Amino acid sequence: MKETNIFNKLYKLICKDTGDRNESAKLIIVTRLLMLTMVAYSFFNIVLFQPVASTKGRIFFYVSMIVFLGIFVWSYYQRTFVSYCMLNLCMLVWVVVNVRIFGWNIGVQTFIFVLLFFCFFAKYRQEHFKIAYVLALLALRLYLFFYCQNNNPGISIPEDVINRFQLLNSFAIFWSMSMLAYFFSTDTQALEGKLIEYNQQLKMQASIDPLTSLHNRRSTLEYLEGLLTSAEHSVSICLCDIDFFKRINDTYGHNVGDIVLQKLASTFTEALPSGSFISRWGGEEFLLIFPDTNGDEAKISLETLRQKIKEIVFDGGSETFSISLTYGLVEYDFQSNLTAILKEADDKLYLGKESGRDRIVF
Ligand code: GH3
Ligand code: MG
Ligand code: MG
Repeated sequence: MKETNIFNKLYKLICKDTGDRNESAKLIIVTRLLMLTMVAYSFFNIVLFQPVASTKGRIFFYVSMIVFLGIFVWSYYQRTFVSYCMLNLCMLVWVVVNVRIFGWNIGVQTFIFVLLFFCFFAKYRQEHFKIAYVLALLALRLYLFFYCQNNNPGISIPEDVINRFQLLNSFAIFWSMSMLAYFFSTDTQALEGKLIEYNQQLKMQASIDPLTSLHNRRSTLEYLEGLLTSAEHSVSICLCDIDFFKRINDTYGHNVGDIVLQKLASTFTEALPSGSFISRWGGEEFLLIFPDTNGDEAKISLETLRQKIKEIVFDGGSETFSISLTYGLVEYDFQSNLTAILKEADDKLYLGKESGRDRIVF
């Protein structure tokens, strides 16, 4: 419990003053975490360096710790960009001095990769700056390499102490790289998640009618094309249209008309067999598709539906009313194309309207 409190307090301290809208909060958090990592790393260096009798080396580690702690505190009074540059500068100087004093074998030059990694994640850097920085870091590493080839380290350290330094370096570098990757990749992952969600929403909006939540004409055509090309069993298709709907709008208002459309949509869903595909074809017309169903079977379902719809009592304000639909039903003959089938259904619907409405024409 206490431990979590300490970590919480430390985290709050690191996140403090990151509310500036013009600066990336994540960047300053990672910058500060890296500064603290360097403070801790310098502290462990001091501990590891105890067996080596060298005042010069000890002073270097103490100065490193104080400098990194100093720029950590300083970061609370500076803009993120300044803190970021300061950390980079200090680390670069630190790497150069470190390698020149203790040599190549300790492995401190690997911290150059941490800076390289960090530079690519720091978003507001320009591309050309990044490339220039990468080249500069490469040049620095090569310089250090050739320097160490031609010069002995300022302080010679026993083999076993070098090994311990190497171990410590491995931990520090793995930690720094993982922290950078973690902080900055969560951004990308969250963004990716949002994009997928947004994409799904767009897809939904493009295929669903907003008023009735039924499939719209676009998604229905897509479905029908797929269904008819792969049809092995009977498919029945019915185009239906509300009778005298204009009159309902004119008498009770457009809002009531909308309620009628919504109620119809839910009635279709409830009354028709579960495999049926129900769509708002346009206006007050609906296209009902019955896969694996022949015309006679579909007609039975439609007859039940027709009765149910007629029984619905709508509230028109001053009075109640009921409605009926006319239905044009066709059975797919495994030959006609989609346009021909839809035309046939439309013709039958027209025939139904002409012959008195409120009927199924098959
Ligand atoms: P018929 O029996 O011949 O089909 O007569 P009708 O009045 O139903 O046909 P008409 O084509 O003359 O009118 C259709 C009406 O449907 C006109 C239009 O205002 C209405 N309508 C279309 N879409 C909507 C909608 O989303 N909401 C409402 N409230 N009305 C709509
Ligand atoms: Mg119509
Ligand atoms: Mg109508």
